[in-house]
Amino acid sequence: MDAQILNNVAEEFGAPLYLYDSEKIRSQYERLTRAFKSVPSLKLNYAVKALSNLSILRLMKQLGSGLDTVSIQEVRLGLHAGFSPEEIIFTPNGVSLSELEEAAGLGVRINIDNLSVLEQFGSRHPEVPVCIRINPHVMAGGHSNISVGHIDSKFGISIHQIPHLLRIVDLTGMNINGIHMHTGSDILDIEVFLYASEILFETAKNFRNLDFIDFGSGFKVPYKEGDIQTNVEELGSKLGSRFNDFCKEYGKELVLAFEPGKFLVSEAGYFLARVNVVKQTTSTVFAGVDSGFNHLIRPMFYGASHEIINISNPGGKERYYSVVGYICETDTFGSNRRINEISEGDILCFKNAGAYCFSMASNYNSRYRPAEVLWHEGKAHLIRAHETFEDITRNQVDPAGLFEPEERVVNVK
Ligand SMILES: *Cc1c(COP(=O)(O)O)cnc(C)c1O
Repeated sequence: MDAQILNNVAEEFGAPLYLYDSEKIRSQYERLTRAFKSVPSLKLNYAVKALSNLSILRLMKQLGSGLDTVSIQEVRLGLHAGFSPEEIIFTPNGVSLSELEEAAGLGVRINIDNLSVLEQFGSRHPEVPVCIRINPHVMAGGHSNISVGHIDSKFGISIHQIPHLLRIVDLTGMNINGIHMHTGSDILDIEVFLYASEILFETAKNFRNLDFIDFGSGFKVPYKEGDIQTNVEELGSKLGSRFNDFCKEYGKELVLAFEPGKFLVSEAGYFLARVNVVKQTTSTVFAGVDSGFNHLIRPMFYGASHEIINISNPGGKERYYSVVGYICETDTFGSNRRINEISEGDILCFKNAGAYCFSMASNYNSRYRPAEVLWHEGKAHLIRAHETFEDITRNQVDPAGLFEPEERVVNVK
């Protein structure tokens, strides 16, 4: 995105803020759709947890996407944004039976990832069709926090438990309408992904009433020039033709579903923060911004390396900086980064700030969460206001008189 636009938006709405480019989201959506054009029925269900602003959800709806949700609150957000229940799938992990029942009551599609809940849910609601989340035990994913398909993962029903699963389905008389996997967040080796898909196809043959097979997500996006990324075109052509063959064998045209989060929104996002201090120490030069891991935690949490540029001095001489936040703990966004010379007051721009950035923001240190702005059809629209002091105190309860200062009896003689 043009540095001038970024500067104007920071000027108009005030940093720190998140800016999202709707055109980039659209082009990613269309790229993935095009990659699978050989498949007659493709459905993308945007993973709400990546970025859950209502305007983003409505943009997804306009593009033709459904939603993948992981909490009852995300289900409600999706309904609030105007999605119909059938366009929403609920794919939680480790939630209570009552939360699943609440979602089923709202009419959304249900995805169950453990046998205990499957048995309880099936016994009580045999008429509600459910999708099952399979763990194919195929290792994908970069950082161990985002790799969810391996043998020790808490996600999914192990393929080794299929006989038990079938017995539950049989005994309860429930109907399985979909098979799902989500193996991790970095598909790099397409052959590994295709191998996991074969396990899913094999599992699918056990169920006669499927409507869809959901391959989850995990598309890797580039964070800087030359980064490796998922080749979605190659994946689309290979998995697409294999899927079509499977449908012939299965005897029914199934829907091929994905639940991309990061792929759709990561590169569309920019986080803008102002530099409070430039501090020369004996070992480095720190640029301290008016932000911290309360706003953008991925570098500290996952070791994510977000590119950082100085949009206030794009032509300046490059120097090395450690960019840090104001949180009273180690709070490093990037070490030894070559950035155009930074002065106090400059605006730094963090790229790839669309996915898992605002949605993971908190009020730690009693700071406000940033505003969000959507750049759409050549104009900037505020889609979430900056917080205020009321937001910090809103739900705090002050039991009347609990800590009133003791009345002092002062005897004046
Ligand atoms: C988080 C999540 C996704 C989205 O993953 P990305 O890597 O952001 O595309 C998809 N499906 C499920 C079940 C998830 O939990």
